[in-house]
Amino acid sequence: MTTRPNILFIMTDDHASQAMGCYGSRINATPNLDRIANEGIRFDHCYVTNSICTPSRAAILTGTHNHVNRVTTLSTHLDNRMPNVAKHLRSGGYQTAIVGKWHLGQGPRHWPGGFDFWSVLPGQGIYHDPVFYEMGEKTVAPGYVTDVTTGKCLSWLDRRDPEKPFFLMCHHKAPHRPWNPKPEHRSLYTDPVPTPDTYDDTYENRARAAAEAHMRITNDMTYDDLDLVQLPESPGHTGGMGSHKFIPHPTEEELPAFSLRCRNSGERFTFESLAALKRFKYQRYMQKYLQCVHSVDENVGRLLDYLDEQGLRENTMVVYTSDQGFYLGEHGWFDKRFIYEESFRMPFIVRYPSLVQPETTCDAMVSNVDFAQTFLDIAGLPQPNYMQGRSIRPLLEGTVPDDWTDLAYHRYWMNQDDVHNAYAHYGIRTHDYKLIYWYNDDCGEDGANPGTDQPEWELFDLRADPLELRNVYHDEAYAEVVRVMKGKLDREMLRIGDTPMHEPENRV
Ligand code: CA
Repeated sequence: MTTRPNILFIMTDDHASQAMGCYGSRINATPNLDRIANEGIRFDHCYVTNSICTPSRAAILTGTHNHVNRVTTLSTHLDNRMPNVAKHLRSGGYQTAIVGKWHLGQGPRHWPGGFDFWSVLPGQGIYHDPVFYEMGEKTVAPGYVTDVTTGKCLSWLDRRDPEKPFFLMCHHKAPHRPWNPKPEHRSLYTDPVPTPDTYDDTYENRARAAAEAHMRITNDMTYDDLDLVQLPESPGHTGGMGSHKFIPHPTEEELPAFSLRCRNSGERFTFESLAALKRFKYQRYMQKYLQCVHSVDENVGRLLDYLDEQGLRENTMVVYTSDQGFYLGEHGWFDKRFIYEESFRMPFIVRYPSLVQPETTCDAMVSNVDFAQTFLDIAGLPQPNYMQGRSIRPLLEGTVPDDWTDLAYHRYWMNQDDVHNAYAHYGIRTHDYKLIYWYNDDCGEDGANPGTDQPEWELFDLRADPLELRNVYHDEAYAEVVRVMKGKLDREMLRIGDTPMHEPENRV
């Protein structure tokens, strides 16, 4: 059996750390994910460089920021002729495989490159009886997608060559919208869970982006999202073809005649107040989301058990992460896209008994751009100089180098897309502050958004205001902080070669 370390990289889609026991979840339990953290290390400041599926995946595979790998939006796909970490590992003697969500494009130029075996979902994939493209061939896999993805990983592990180390990317589709749980899990999480402190956020004292985003649980969820139909049913509200309609938030006067029915169970719901309806939508959202997470947790347990049974525990680095964070009702939202904390922060836990002490945590700033170089470092392979991150190996070993970065960088390019209306921005976060530039340019997917492109700055004092409710950019008391943070932002953009939309100054 090989003595070179194996790497098992498990990534979910849109799994927020707020829904993980090891990150202090108040709403669910994840005993199998917690095994990884308890037997390894939990990173408390891991950030995504662009809080959306496709660009995050490109950053992870290439070890570069999105202006370099050119995967800046959901519709800019990865060219598989580019180098990536799987290609480097494969040429360095590793067996490589990827199973599950890909979302970096389809067809000869975009299917996974650098993998001995690949079996991936087209686009977002679906939850039940999903289609996979396996080495280019279309197949249908009966069952629930999270079980099927894990099953394919286990089959590949079984038939691999044990004389060579492996690099396996297990990419779950769950818990991405529309949150379709496994039928057996539909009875879970039916008791109410606490709402976040900022659920009733009114978006005052901030840049326009927060109030303008179409990510509110109250207004922007659909019948599809929550398995509901309105009563009495009308052609637009049937839950069939009309299910993409938004769930209307009635007026106070309309409320007595307003009711909803669960499409699966037939249960009916009426509401005493608009506040009660708002709470109900949150509970329904959490119920479905956490049911999907439950299956992920179970399936991570299957993989960990397999490693134990095969004697692979000591020599395998197991990574669990999500392609970005997610709003679970914070600021009244679902979805992601923003540099605000809940979608910016990635869960990131690592078990690797030969290197990592159990039950440790790390406060250092880490980014998904660092992952590729970390894998190469662990594998004992050279790190190509086109990559822009840094191996976190010293952090895994329990030391933080003196010159480790004190910040994380984020840029979101899809200005005001038709669905979510999120504004384009970039910014940095240190342990103490977050500086954001909402450049709101007119290069959105629909071409132009006249009159909405006035840029704005935001600064949050994260020690005094961890929930990010008060923009202090214009507060005189923070003038020096603004100056220092702009200097850090300018230097970081210069270092990674990203083009500023603001006018950089010669700052400290
Ligand atoms: Ca995602």
